[in-house]
Amino acid sequence: MRQTRATCCYCGVGCGVIIESDGQQVLGVKGDPAHPANFGRLCTKGSTLHLSASPVLQQQARALYPEMRTDRNAARTRTTWDASLDAMAQKFADTIARHGPDSVGFYISGQLLTEDYYVFNKLAKGLVGTNNVDTNSRLCMSSAVAGYKQTLGADAPPACYEDIDLADVVFIVGSNTAYAHPILYRRLEAARQANPLMKVIVADPRKTDTAREADLFLPILPGTDVALFNGMLHICLWEDLVDAAYIEAHTEGFAELKQTVRDYTPAYAAQVCGISEQDLVAAARLFGKAKASLSLYCQGLNQSASGTAKNAALINLHLATAQIGKPGAGPFSLTGQPNAMGGREVGGMANLLSAHRDLANPAHRAEIAQLWGIDDVPAKPGKTAVEMFEAVRAGEIKILWIACTNPAQSMPDQKLIREALRKAELVIVQDAYKTTASVDYADILLPATTWSEKEGTVTNSERRITRLQAALDKPGETLHDWEIVIRFARKLEARMGRERTLFPYETTEEIWNEHRESTRGRDLDITGLSFQILEQQGPQQWPYPQGAAGGKKRLYEDGVFPTASGRAKFVNTVYQPVAEPVDARYPFRLTTGRLRDQWHGMSRTGTVAQLFAHQSEPTVVMAAQDMERRFIKAGDLVHVTSRRGSQILTAVAGDDMRPGQAFIGMHWGEEYVSGRGHDGDGSYGVNALTLPAIDPYSKQPELKHAAAKILKAELP
Ligand code: SF4
Repeated sequence: MRQTRATCCYCGVGCGVIIESDGQQVLGVKGDPAHPANFGRLCTKGSTLHLSASPVLQQQARALYPEMRTDRNAARTRTTWDASLDAMAQKFADTIARHGPDSVGFYISGQLLTEDYYVFNKLAKGLVGTNNVDTNSRLCMSSAVAGYKQTLGADAPPACYEDIDLADVVFIVGSNTAYAHPILYRRLEAARQANPLMKVIVADPRKTDTAREADLFLPILPGTDVALFNGMLHICLWEDLVDAAYIEAHTEGFAELKQTVRDYTPAYAAQVCGISEQDLVAAARLFGKAKASLSLYCQGLNQSASGTAKNAALINLHLATAQIGKPGAGPFSLTGQPNAMGGREVGGMANLLSAHRDLANPAHRAEIAQLWGIDDVPAKPGKTAVEMFEAVRAGEIKILWIACTNPAQSMPDQKLIREALRKAELVIVQDAYKTTASVDYADILLPATTWSEKEGTVTNSERRITRLQAALDKPGETLHDWEIVIRFARKLEARMGRERTLFPYETTEEIWNEHRESTRGRDLDITGLSFQILEQQGPQQWPYPQGAAGGKKRLYEDGVFPTASGRAKFVNTVYQPVAEPVDARYPFRLTTGRLRDQWHGMSRTGTVAQLFAHQSEPTVVMAAQDMERRFIKAGDLVHVTSRRGSQILTAVAGDDMRPGQAFIGMHWGEEYVSGRGHDGDGSYGVNALTLPAIDPYSKQPELKHAAAKILKAELP
């Protein structure tokens, strides 16, 4: 039996796994005891990875050869790689010639490896000449990116997993860590056992399993996080818990923020958040007095029309109390997807360039143009996720290439998304699975390899890069994602009359080496790293510049920040209500989130029977009082309706919900029946209900809140 080292392909904890295989199929999986993310542990999802890779399931669900249709009303039929890529290249060349490069869009994924991401980004910005390349990480991490950049000067989580062991106070906000990042949560449980004085504060609209174990639970109303953080800072100021010397030496902009937070009295902030004043004061005191306070946060802050302000307000609190740049302290954003970090590193988003460069900066564009050997990188910002689908629907973007993601389930306002997919002149879907709803809209389906078949690198939440090895050969006619991009790019280059290819790579190492060179002198400098070091010494954290003995665990320990002045910046954050407040017609605050044993749209976890033991079908969770008032019993079917659509779901009473709130898991979409396809009954999952309001800076949509009504379904 062969043993191969890789990482789990689900969440951003990035646990190391050892794949046991015979080279043809995966026989088992176990945690890698040498991997510093998990030291051999795996959660329910990771420990069943081998079941999702069983040959029978793979045969039913996998896309194994290219398919194409030339008539929208016809079914796709099997074709060859050359035929599909030639057709694509011709359509790209014609469309760019007629409508310009911005008539093309790429919507990619935090599931891709860093090398895949790098070549997609280069294809769009370097060859096609458009910045219309965005990713499902926009739905996940872009507010964290914007928050870090506005305050600390760079998109770099300053803390590491070891800080969980060293913290005195852990402040978990907008994160059901026990479900979404289970191995980190187990590390927290172990740290609490080792240090009984450690305190855990959880702020969340729902009393999640994470919240149930907290020393102090703050059941804030959805969207009120800025009021919470400003209120805590107000109390820290009033009780002299801020660090004036740190503020003076290492930051700027505090005077203005201080004026703003004067208004966030405990009474006002507690009233906005819907919590008691005593609890708010207790949280501020615990946080401000601790030797080391660590915040763990995720989609509850990010998936919001004021997500950047929420991130910045929390970081303000850390800066004011000097809870950053020391063991056990810091604002630590937990990455949702396995390689959202890698995508950010290579600049695979509409507003970014390689190695944390900004598209808006002419010097940064010139640096990348020089590295790539092109005249220039286009200056016009690309369309971000929601904007991209709006532009497709408006007819501005005519070709949409979707890779390794399923927008026909995961994007907000499915009506908008599906109108866009129908409107596009050409939809290309590159995926390992043919079971996603997005594949239904594909004119060309490009079959890609997936977990256990791919090799390259990923970066986890603590900036740690892991080298993955492939355990299996490529099945069927699949290709690696980077290979598909390169084969296509060379065909397009031929049509564009380009003599020297921009894509001369034969291996992932060659791609990664070019990415490495792009980081020279940047905050994420990895010029001291190599594939050889990653293979021989194991996963490493960035930065890891040339000559360094190792990566850096923790950032900003010297109090110097990567801003023009070297100082961190306080952002003057003001509380904004949710984008769609509740009213008499839509009185429920509907929120969405992950379940413990499922991942995203269930392409993989949905094939493992035992992962349905925790929850077998989609439900809407409501407070018992709300159900009684509406004569709804547990198990009844109800209509959940927003201004955009409606779903029929089974009602469940949950003591985690406050009256007036409702929760739906994000994982279910249209049902796929083998041999028949999707049922097409309009049951698009919770994103039939969510709204496409976006944050003005991060452009992340407000997936965490929509106004809804819930009525008992009547039998016909
Ligand atoms: Fe996979 Fe995340 Fe579970 Fe680790 S914690 S095994 S990365 S799902």
